[in-house]
Amino acid sequence: MQKNIVTRYVKVNPVNPEAGPLAEGGLILRRGGLVAFPTETVYGLGANALDGRAVEGIFQAKGRPADNPLIVHVAGREAVGGLVKEVPGVARELMNAFWPGPLTIILPVGKDVPAEVTAGLDTVALRMPRHPVALGLIRAAGVPVAAPSANTSGRPSPTTAQHVLNDLEGRIDMVLDGGPAGVGVESTVLDLTAPAPIVLRPGGITPEELCLVLGTVEVDPQARFANQGEGRPRSPGMKYTHYAPRARLLVVEGRAEAVAVKIKELAGEYRNRGKRVGILSYEDSADFTNIGEVIMVGRRAQPETVAEKLYAALRCFDETDVDLILAEGIDDQGVGLAVMNRLRKAAGGQIIRA
Ligand code: AMP
Ligand code: MG
Repeated sequence: MQKNIVTRYVKVNPVNPEAGPLAEGGLILRRGGLVAFPTETVYGLGANALDGRAVEGIFQAKGRPADNPLIVHVAGREAVGGLVKEVPGVARELMNAFWPGPLTIILPVGKDVPAEVTAGLDTVALRMPRHPVALGLIRAAGVPVAAPSANTSGRPSPTTAQHVLNDLEGRIDMVLDGGPAGVGVESTVLDLTAPAPIVLRPGGITPEELCLVLGTVEVDPQARFANQGEGRPRSPGMKYTHYAPRARLLVVEGRAEAVAVKIKELAGEYRNRGKRVGILSYEDSADFTNIGEVIMVGRRAQPETVAEKLYAALRCFDETDVDLILAEGIDDQGVGLAVMNRLRKAAGGQIIRA
């Protein structure tokens, strides 16, 4: 396992990244190394997608299960060529509408992609990120870049360079620090190889937005409810408990008022049993200050603001001594669907109805 190497940390301007750090990162990637970089979703851990051994390094550094395929990042539509068998019309329309941006599309895999990237599947996941540092790095590398989130497998995804260092320092060659990532949750994964386009993972581009181009879109039930162990997931990553803080997490769902009452009741019960309780709530939620360690993540009425802060909040709870986190559910409309998918997964499917 790759360990105790010196991880180079370099700050870059997130709007106009300096050429020097991008060139350095690009060279590391071309030589088979690992570089973490900001994207508009979360921080990614990149390797040359055409080099199976380099890609192998990602799995080792993260402790990622080998059967969970990676997303290949490109800096332009023209780079998709050898990565897929063909680009159907609908894929082209989606690229025109949402690239660069947080939409990953799945197409039949082409000849250039090593099996390490796809975990042996006959499909490949592709995305063109919007973040200037991500785009600049991929261009400097001159190759497509396979990149999952830059966290230890199972931990919340990193939205700052510090999160990346906390998990992976000594295991990767370089981190480009371009400040906090924007959207805060990962890209939407859309499978175009199914009989009809289907969302396998909700993310930065909402089903509502996809409908504007597709007319209609299916959402995999596992993407919505994060139920585990029921049948073979279409997206291998969906079967793992992701995004988990160290303390046990329970999600309480229902009408806002009922949720507040239930959380107060549960917090009381757990405290009586000597447990230290954390509460994940929102600026427009009930006041929970006297009943536990409260971390507020944006406003429930604006799910984008929740998405932005969610992973940082889950990591913050790790710095407290809480034994249990009670998280308030939000409406699963818009980006709220991605937020609830991550919360339900962080809870390992333990959902309480208020
Ligand atoms: P990550 O990059 O860590 O955010 O994870 C990428 C997600 O995309 C995981 O949930 C993978 O299972 C999914 N994924 C990547 N490639 C494919 C593919 N060819 N078919 C289905 N899902 C995929
Ligand atoms: Mg991930």
